[in-house]
Amino acid sequence: MIGTQSPVTVGWENIPKVEGGPVKRFVFTWFQPAMLFAMIAFWYYAPNSIAKASTAVGIGIGFKVLLLGLEWVNPRYASWRLTWKELVTDLFYVGLGFTLLHMVSHFIGSDAMAKSIEHYFHQDDFLWFTGLPILLQAFLMAFIFDFGQYWMHRGMHNWYPLWLPHSVHHYITQLNINKGAVGNPVELFLIGLGIGGFFDFLPRAVLISGAFGLAIGTYQHINVRFNSPRWWRFLFNTTEHHSVHHSRDFEATRSNFAGSFIFIDRIFGTCIDGEAELLGMEGGRRMSIREQMTHPFTEAWKTLTERLPLEQRF
Ligand SMILES: [Zn+2]
Ligand SMILES: [Zn+2]
Repeated sequence: MIGTQSPVTVGWENIPKVEGGPVKRFVFTWFQPAMLFAMIAFWYYAPNSIAKASTAVGIGIGFKVLLLGLEWVNPRYASWRLTWKELVTDLFYVGLGFTLLHMVSHFIGSDAMAKSIEHYFHQDDFLWFTGLPILLQAFLMAFIFDFGQYWMHRGMHNWYPLWLPHSVHHYITQLNINKGAVGNPVELFLIGLGIGGFFDFLPRAVLISGAFGLAIGTYQHINVRFNSPRWWRFLFNTTEHHSVHHSRDFEATRSNFAGSFIFIDRIFGTCIDGEAELLGMEGGRRMSIREQMTHPFTEAWKTLTERLPLEQRF
């Protein structure tokens, strides 16, 4: 039974609506779809001189600042509001994420790496793909990425060696837009593996598919009350879905594994439409950064030395 250990609201009809005047309700109903369509249109029509990675990074940062403003204006839960302690942790992980990303892209961009990619992949192998309409290419890339991520994430919740690095992310006790970065660095590497290989796609389609991730996936951890349109929450992951995944109810956490496309969970029967306010493991015990770094290793060591029967380890 869902919600017997700690409260989880199940069913969209039971989720509170945005309170306030017509303008506020309009903004918080249409913000998410408007942003998605604006970003797709931007990358579709942008001239080549600005359609590049540095523009994407700039848009990403600007978008996050805007979302931080929305969290301030219309938080979903007052109990999730940023404290200095939470902000310091978030900034540490956002900085760490940028550093790792920079190192990886440096490595991929190196001459030796470019040569070996050229060796294994030929432009002709992807003609069937690069001949498709650009929006379809972008959607397929975003979908393939999310499909890989869905199974990696589900695997993390079902196999102890993968659960150890992921468990750290489940010790967060509130959601906000930077919380996606909080977790053990080993997990970032595993999620990278879930992408399922390297494809030599058209950069323009890559940029549009990145916009899907930014305009849909970023809302996963946001502390904003939206009136998501019915079609939006049917297709896309929302902070409501992801708060159920982070809840203190064990059964409820085994749901909503997708990053952007919640319909993948619907297909495989793992979707729960609902929301939760009380989050985290061990009744919401907060971890220090030091413990977040060491937890998977100390837990693995404990398990190895104690030799507990498997079913007691979770
Ligand atoms: Zn998870
Ligand atoms: Zn999360």
